[in-house]
Amino acid sequence: MATYNNIFSFPAIDIHGHFGKNCPFGRNTERPFGSAEPSKVVEIVRKFNISKIIVSPMESLFPFGDADVVKGNISAAQAVAENIELRQWVVVDPNQPASYKQAVEMLKNKNAAGIKIHPVAHIYDIKDKGAEIFSFAQEHNLIVLTHSGDAQSLPQDFVPFANDFPNLKLILAHLGSSPNEDRMLHVRAVEMSRHGNIYVDTSSAMNILPDIVENAVKRIGSDKILFGSDTPLYFTPMQRARIEFANIADADKRKILRENAIKLFGDVFND
Ligand SMILES: [Zn+2]
Repeated sequence: MATYNNIFSFPAIDIHGHFGKNCPFGRNTERPFGSAEPSKVVEIVRKFNISKIIVSPMESLFPFGDADVVKGNISAAQAVAENIELRQWVVVDPNQPASYKQAVEMLKNKNAAGIKIHPVAHIYDIKDKGAEIFSFAQEHNLIVLTHSGDAQSLPQDFVPFANDFPNLKLILAHLGSSPNEDRMLHVRAVEMSRHGNIYVDTSSAMNILPDIVENAVKRIGSDKILFGSDTPLYFTPMQRARIEFANIADADKRKILRENAIKLFGDVFND
């Protein structure tokens, strides 16, 4: 698909972005990189021909264990209302039960794509809270994006919930991310899924290793893989180039970069 002259000619959809202040370890210890207001995120995605990006507010995730989830979701709703490039993940934290109620209300808006969960940022183990979160998701027919790849969020630990609740669709973020050297944890989780309702996104730094994306396509097929960049935390064109120049068929690249998202999210991307 890509040549060096027309590298980003195809309008992509990015299902994993953020906006706000990058301060996982305290409100007063903002990292010197990775923060961006919504307007800056829009500027980045426009530059690299990403037509839509689904964002969650860093305010709802950071600082770890002390984020104001509800307030962050309110700023996200405002940001997506003001920018046609943006769509919203509503962040849910089982330790802040008000966020469930808020999600039900916010998801009535067609700009809201589903819920985002983050066991590491919100300090719980998915094994303990999964039943509660996923029965909520099942009840409301939701798409769930989860951080995954750390000890509290191992891809395989999500599989029993996806199998128990076939209505929900689960996207495991960060293909290749792992507490050890095993880069295929996400791929294996998709293989273990009984109802075909587990997907992975490409928003990791590990995907720059050779063969990660390629082996994933070989084993689970491109239909289960969605482009995510983790903008503005990662360098967006590098994430996109990893797919553009992957050693896979052009048809697979189109699915990963756009078509799978349209199929999965339906009319969320219509203006
Ligand atoms: Zn992220």
